[in-house]
Amino acid sequence: MIYSMLSISKPVRIPRLSPLLGELLPVELMNTIWADRTGGHDALFDARGLRRWLDAVRDRLDLDGLPGSSARRVTPDQFVSARELRDALRCLAAVATDDPRAGAPASERAHRDAVRTVNEACARAPMWSTLEWRDEPRRIPRSAQPAVEVALARIAEQAVDLFSGPRRADLRACLAPGCVLYFLRDDRRREWCSPACGNRARVARHYRRHKLG
Ligand SMILES: [Zn+2]
Repeated sequence: MIYSMLSISKPVRIPRLSPLLGELLPVELMNTIWADRTGGHDALFDARGLRRWLDAVRDRLDLDGLPGSSARRVTPDQFVSARELRDALRCLAAVATDDPRAGAPASERAHRDAVRTVNEACARAPMWSTLEWRDEPRRIPRSAQPAVEVALARIAEQAVDLFSGPRRADLRACLAPGCVLYFLRDDRRREWCSPACGNRARVARHYRRHKLG
């Protein structure tokens, strides 16, 4: 295939957006590692993937009005920070849920590092509000840091709420075959991250019984 000669850009692999389950944002960020029948995926494979994910959850970040909130650029440092925060949240979720999918439980050191990563992300972009009053009074979020870092700080803050509060007990690892997602159980009967996983788990159970029977 000739790409360069004709100045046709070489096709590049764009990371696929992870499934968004409508969970709290720290859980959605954990779930940027996901899997389907073709294998495992990382929606934060590169900076474009992070940008795409941030755009997809933008309405839930409450950053409108923040300078640079519509900026398209993600710096390499911000990309690294986002992945570190994501990996830290997955580590803490594995500890909180005794996740049997993770293999060996997280070491004490990994657990400690994950806590530190979350705390650093919270502190990196402090926010405050200002009141704007033209026709109608409205709140404008402010920060001295770029919007991507503010977004990560907000998610880290929500993670502190999640892990330190009563909802930690609702956090679950989805144990459907091949699934790597987490979810918050909002209903005592909910066992799976999604109806699709529930179906796959039932099929697998049926198959096992049939095979054993
Ligand atoms: Zn699942």
